[in-house]
Amino acid sequence: MTKNVLILPGDGIGPEITAEAVKVLNKLVETDGLDIAMEEDLVGGAAYDVHGVPLADETMQKAHDADAVLLGAVGGYKWESLDISVRPEKGLLRLRKEMELFANLRPAMLFPQLASASTLKPEIVAGLDILIVRELTGGIYFGQPRGIRTLENGERQGYNTYVYSESEVKRIAHVAFQAAMKRGKKLTSVDKANVLEVTEMWREIIDEIAPEYPEVEVNHMYVDNAAMQLVLNPKQFDVMVTGNMFGDILSDEASMLTGSIGMLASASLDKNNKGMYEPSHGSAPDIAGQNKANPLATIMSAAMMLRYTLGREDLAVKIEDAISKVLDQGLRTGDIMEDGMTQVTCSEMGDAVVAAL
Ligand code: NAD
Repeated sequence: MTKNVLILPGDGIGPEITAEAVKVLNKLVETDGLDIAMEEDLVGGAAYDVHGVPLADETMQKAHDADAVLLGAVGGYKWESLDISVRPEKGLLRLRKEMELFANLRPAMLFPQLASASTLKPEIVAGLDILIVRELTGGIYFGQPRGIRTLENGERQGYNTYVYSESEVKRIAHVAFQAAMKRGKKLTSVDKANVLEVTEMWREIIDEIAPEYPEVEVNHMYVDNAAMQLVLNPKQFDVMVTGNMFGDILSDEASMLTGSIGMLASASLDKNNKGMYEPSHGSAPDIAGQNKANPLATIMSAAMMLRYTLGREDLAVKIEDAISKVLDQGLRTGDIMEDGMTQVTCSEMGDAVVAAL
């Protein structure tokens, strides 16, 4: 049966990088019997410019109806002064919230060809393969009450609420344990249990669930130490599980181990493995419209979509092999460029992956 994929290019480099992923998917439709129908719509600043909101209700409905969503990125200088309720990022948060995409999977895998593109020494990062499982719909980014208020003395005070319920922690814990079972059977839970009660409870729940996965070796780490260990000895990690804010920060840090944020894919899944797939980076307004962006994170996000939602592991592997071939050919976008390699544009990189397929 034909699966429906909603393509939301978004802002900045979003349209450039999603066009390359669509090219790759279209090639698989032609040559490998991939049975999908793609439809495109607006999100972020692009949606605000047309509809006055960063995600129109009709687009939200299309996302509900689709089997999977492939998103580029949102945001840019043009929309930074808008009221926070209609900023581009709100479109993304609404999609995550209403689709109940509570599990964000961010692999930080280093292609051996790029070991020297990392700012860390090759021996520290060679062979790196980490999966960060980030809780995506709770925690301090969504907690109420929140706001900026004026105190009696006239001073302004900003406040947010860091809150997790037991069920929220349990469901993300199970996703992480199950991911660990399929990989190196090692799980590191990251918290700040020495200071924040909410993460003290998080730690207790991880320990309560651990006996259900006796083969998985579990350890706990404070977030400050985890940030340090990621650059000191990143290969100690297999799967890391953490809350929304810590996961946001640590996954960006982990991305730099791989050489470029332009190489990091992500999947956000609901309880039925329906998902939204997007690169981990933002809309890179500094290079938007210049055909310079690295489309590989988005193309790898499309591969994750084939793996987790569309049931085509074979085609996911095919895309990943094609990317590896292209890197072997010495083709690099600016962000991963090194001496002796050939610099290509965003669209040339997409064409090269299609050719390697
Ligand atoms: P960013 O990830 O957009 O850019 C950080 C740096 O990485 C920039 O120098 C950029 O040029 C570079 N970069 C990012 N993706 C790249 C790619 N594919 N190829 C080559 N270089 C790449 O982060 P930022 O600058 O903090 O944010 C820019 C905008 O993106 C802001 O409006 C922010 O709110 C938004 N943002 C959106 C998302 C998202 O859509 N998921 C995530 C983060 C930031």
